[in-house]
Amino acid sequence: MQQTPRATPTTDEVPDPALAFPFLGGRPCLNFVATLGKRHTVRIERLPSPDALARWITEAGLLPCPPEGFRVTDDDLAEARVLREAMYGLLTAAMRGRRPEAADLGAVNEAAAHADLVPRLAPADDEPGGLCLSWHADHPVRAALSTVARDAMLLAGGPLVARVKECEGPDCSLLFLDDSQARRRRWCSMDRCGNLAKVAGYRTRRHPARRAGQA
Ligand SMILES: [Zn+2]
Repeated sequence: MQQTPRATPTTDEVPDPALAFPFLGGRPCLNFVATLGKRHTVRIERLPSPDALARWITEAGLLPCPPEGFRVTDDDLAEARVLREAMYGLLTAAMRGRRPEAADLGAVNEAAAHADLVPRLAPADDEPGGLCLSWHADHPVRAALSTVARDAMLLAGGPLVARVKECEGPDCSLLFLDDSQARRRRWCSMDRCGNLAKVAGYRTRRHPARRAGQA
């Protein structure tokens, strides 16, 4: 019997802006991998708690419609982090043409083997003739993770992996799918790393001696 997954009630405020989830990757799996920020420097763990995972699942639109809360356990969180790192290993290996670690493949395969979310259309309560799309599963969190894992498999195993890049921002490790016409996208976004790079380049041109002194 299917159970209606319920949205978390903790989606309102993020006290620390650094913990806000970036949705810049262009694919659910890349957005999920980005919940660990600044991988090459001082890492930012944006999934410090089960509530944070519930918030990501809701903000990602995986369980968007129902208004009540669903429960994420500590075990769910631990599984999600293992899956996230396995997906990062799989995707970075695939984008560099390397053979992925067996453990990473195993974790992604295992997560994807679970049933994923099932869509259901119903008449909307507040709009005559309107339809409401909701997502259902016996185990909503596991199903949401399965959906993300399947996305990672399709991306890593298909031709689009050639367009997956890592942002060139010095502190940024965000992976994104470059779907631009010229395939020359360098930054996760202009608002974040693109503008910082522009400002840094401008300062370097104006103060070359200062740059040499800092090197
Ligand atoms: Zn970036």
